[in-house]
Amino acid sequence: MRSEVLIKKGLFESICEEKKDLETLLELIRLISSTLDPRKVLFFVVSKIAKIIKVTRCSILSIPFEEKGHAYVISTFEDPKTANIKLDLKKYPEIRKALRTRKTVVIRDALKDPLLKEVRNIIAPLGIRSIVVMPIIFGDEVIGTLFLRTSRSNHTFTEKEIRLCTAIASSSANFLFNAFLHEKTENEKAQFEKLAITDYLTGLYNIRYFYHRFAEEFSRAQRYNLHLSCFMIDIDHFKKVNDKYGHRTGDVVLSEFAQLLRKHTRKSDVLARYGGEEFIMLLPQTPAKTAAAKAETLRVLIEKHRFSGMEAKNRLAVSIGISSYYARNIKDKDDIITFADKALYKAKADGRNRVALYNSRM
Ligand code: GH3
Ligand code: MG
Ligand code: MG
Repeated sequence: MRSEVLIKKGLFESICEEKKDLETLLELIRLISSTLDPRKVLFFVVSKIAKIIKVTRCSILSIPFEEKGHAYVISTFEDPKTANIKLDLKKYPEIRKALRTRKTVVIRDALKDPLLKEVRNIIAPLGIRSIVVMPIIFGDEVIGTLFLRTSRSNHTFTEKEIRLCTAIASSSANFLFNAFLHEKTENEKAQFEKLAITDYLTGLYNIRYFYHRFAEEFSRAQRYNLHLSCFMIDIDHFKKVNDKYGHRTGDVVLSEFAQLLRKHTRKSDVLARYGGEEFIMLLPQTPAKTAAAKAETLRVLIEKHRFSGMEAKNRLAVSIGISSYYARNIKDKDDIITFADKALYKAKADGRNRVALYNSRM
């Protein structure tokens, strides 16, 4: 009688556990159909597993196709914001084996298993007891692994736990693949966007981006009655640099010149290559007087700088034309550039290596 009760009790408990497992899978399927964010799904997977099995560590690793010997932790239940921690697979023979065999690797006792012999010194202090690595396969490729570790003494993973994790690992494959794809596309998009606004030689903004920011800053200055100054910067006698050192060195000097300007540009200012050896700088909320002082600082800076690639006795000099809004005669934004250009012309005509502020007599 008593043993019958016990059997029933055991059966009841095991049915309850099966029910819990099924509920977990159902919850996962529900989440999968309700979110488009693969990272959210992967985080759900690791935190669920960690809760059910009470592991000390549970992560999903991605295995990049193009990079042999490394894996990246892309989701771990300890921290929802984990971002691509790089693992050197030399230190993880159990992961290497899972990738090689494409089968789940179970280490019942990390201190005794011969597979971990070479890394025993590393893992012994971590107090790890059991490890499970399950490959996540998409199409023909192992694109990641589920990586579970426990430090509970006497606990190794049960067959049932492994079965549940396997079911979860295989349903994660799509999401891991999507997470990959999503990240790759985002990176490429960011790279393209950066390229589209960057000057190839100097790394500064190109003129296209400058005009875009200029339109924004000008309408802000108009609306709120703010100052807006503009520098047109042209290197003096740059042709001589090319003539003396060659075009390639000229390019290097030009690039160094641009870095020097950039280093002395505030975050709120916009510096771009206008073309050739001409640069343009927009200084929002900067009145003419402040702008003129800043231009003079730049001029002296360039005059004193020793450019690598050029002999010490040869220095560069610049002429800078400045126009400033709101001056009475500036009607639209193009006037700002035209006037800065006129001021630059005046600086050149007056002997170069100088700063000129636009006035209506120019
Ligand atoms: P100034 O402005 O003082 O009147 O004289 P300059 O010699 O600087 O001006 P000019 O307009 O006569 O010549 C510009 C020179 O800049 C000639 C051109 O080869 C050089 N240049 C323009 N863009 C580049 C570039 O991308 N790389 C190199 N190396 N040289 C460039
Ligand atoms: Mg020049
Ligand atoms: Mg020029």
